[in-house]
Amino acid sequence: MLLEVRDLHVEFRTRDGITRAVDGAGYAVDAGETLAVLGESGSGKSVTAQAVMGILDCPPGRITGGQVLFQGQDLLTLKEEQRRRIRGARMAMIFQDALSALNPVLTVGEQLGEMFVVHRGMSRKDARARAVELMDRVRIPAAAQRVRDHPHQFSGGMRQRIMIAMALALEPDLIIADEPTTALDVTVQAQVMDLLAELQREYRMGLILITHDLGVVADVADRIAVMYAGRIVESAPVHDLYKAPAHPYTRALLDSIPRLDQKGRELHAIKGLPPNLMNIPPGCAFHPRCPMARDVCRTDVPPLHEVIDDRAGGPPGGRASACHFWRECLHDRT
Ligand code: SF4
Ligand code: MG
Repeated sequence: MLLEVRDLHVEFRTRDGITRAVDGAGYAVDAGETLAVLGESGSGKSVTAQAVMGILDCPPGRITGGQVLFQGQDLLTLKEEQRRRIRGARMAMIFQDALSALNPVLTVGEQLGEMFVVHRGMSRKDARARAVELMDRVRIPAAAQRVRDHPHQFSGGMRQRIMIAMALALEPDLIIADEPTTALDVTVQAQVMDLLAELQREYRMGLILITHDLGVVADVADRIAVMYAGRIVESAPVHDLYKAPAHPYTRALLDSIPRLDQKGRELHAIKGLPPNLMNIPPGCAFHPRCPMARDVCRTDVPPLHEVIDDRAGGPPGGRASACHFWRECLHDRT
């Protein structure tokens, strides 16, 4: 396994109390695989990724438990110096807002080239040539000229391509993209997502795609992990999850996006708000919003059950759901 996050706990201490941002979350990604991590804002998906990358603001963020196994090594036991060597070279991150992630006073060629100068000891001239190659690779037109431009001279979509080029520069084994297309309009979103998927296949990288929008990742992800209140509530191969969700929250997310195969179907926004992480509801954290909730849901935290879809016929698909009534949810097709 390329990356395995196990039972991760992250807390934020503020004046008002302790926020449990990540509360025992875990997921795994293999080389050449794309995992989508789906959830509303505040579900812990970005914080988990920051803990993996080792860029959690601390304080106030503090990892209080768990393991982050990267190629078999627990990153949480490493010194900052060792982590810095892994960042960029073996794992890289793409952020939502390229404009604030890129340096406004340097040309994009200087920023891309810097990676090769610092990590590969290349001359400025060779580094610039590599920068042009990379810009070509992410299909920025007239790369040889545009390498001299500054970030603000590019459109949002082109800037996001430059971020992808930066992440790819040292050919890492893992890329984490946190809402990489959220700030873009719909057509550009699809182009950037397709490019990312193509490069992921070509380089055989592991890719973690963080999103609040299931529609964006359905075509490119192999697996999906759904987060709610700092935990994984469902994890499944993307097609299985689409066909028959095994958690009411996943079902609600699916019902809230337009689907081509179900034209005319009514869309339902999810009722209520995500929980206050300083005061997570007892039992199942989703119970105040869950249409299937019963008494046991208000008192007992549902463990992550292995889901066996007996109608699927094939071998068990590595599915899990943290719902007491996953079986009912799976079989309910109304
Ligand atoms: Fe709903 Fe209960 Fe399942 Fe939670 S455990 S998702 S409240 S049915
Ligand atoms: Mg986020």
